[in-house]
Amino acid sequence: MNKFIDLHLHTICSDGTFTASEIINIAFEKGISAVAITDHDSVDGIDEAMICGKKEGVEVIPGVELSAYDDDDIEVHILGYFIDYKDKWFVERLEEIRDVRKKRYEKILSKLKEIEIDLTGEDFPGEDECVSYGRPHVARLLLKKGYVHSFKEAFVKYIGKGCHGYVEKKRLTVPEAIEMVIKVNGIPVLAHPGILNDDNKVNSYIGMGILGIEAYHSDHSLQEQMKYVDIAKKHNILITGGSDCHGKIKKDILMGKVKVPYEVLERMRKAKRMAPS
Ligand code: AMP
Ligand code: FE
Ligand code: FE
Ligand code: ZN
Repeated sequence: MNKFIDLHLHTICSDGTFTASEIINIAFEKGISAVAITDHDSVDGIDEAMICGKKEGVEVIPGVELSAYDDDDIEVHILGYFIDYKDKWFVERLEEIRDVRKKRYEKILSKLKEIEIDLTGEDFPGEDECVSYGRPHVARLLLKKGYVHSFKEAFVKYIGKGCHGYVEKKRLTVPEAIEMVIKVNGIPVLAHPGILNDDNKVNSYIGMGILGIEAYHSDHSLQEQMKYVDIAKKHNILITGGSDCHGKIKKDILMGKVKVPYEVLERMRKAKRMAPS
């Protein structure tokens, strides 16, 4: 049987609903050989995943997903793989970014209060200061309190761009995010280019130092997948992929649905070995 992997997963340390250990257990059940933990602006789930992964025989690659901006307006996600996730500078920089996220989360709640939606005092996402707060936390609260019927509706009605509860979070530029990953000896990869849907931009990020493209992703059609594989091959950069699972949505778990062959990881490891550090 062909081995396969999932290199894009979120835990409760950011906007996922599974703990790192739960992710490993699900990976084991689904027969996934290797996973990368890629929380938004956080590396806090990696150690737990490594410990549990060792027990269950699931390989764990340390990763991160950084939010960057282009032209002030376009959101671009940069994945970092094989990062030195304990690097002091990196950890402190992520703490600063999460601080901005927390303030933004509070601002979103107060904007929603202006339109009679009161989510304050709710116990989710909890008292944990380390959580990398994101809009999915607000979406889940809106769902729990019955303001919306689905997770998606929360973005359409209340917290998506143009909605009353939308608050920008400006942080890194694309070159800054790439640089941040490279500084900790990681491989910078452009996440879900299909969401971006702009090939000129994709090419410009490759020029900025992206070393891989996430061609396999839950939101990509087969055509998009093939297109990004071709772009990566043309530029001689890595092809990567993952489900971008954030937990259970209704009864569905995205993990393992995007079949990424194990060879993808072997090529990444080779690139990592050859990189100067
Ligand atoms: P944030 O980083 O706080 O702006 O939140 C962005 C995250 O929200 C993304 O990583 C997705 O997990 C989720 N997200 C953004 N837009 C949507 C949408 N339209 N529907 C569902 N989830 C979304
Ligand atoms: Fe997310
Ligand atoms: Fe993303
Ligand atoms: Zn993601």
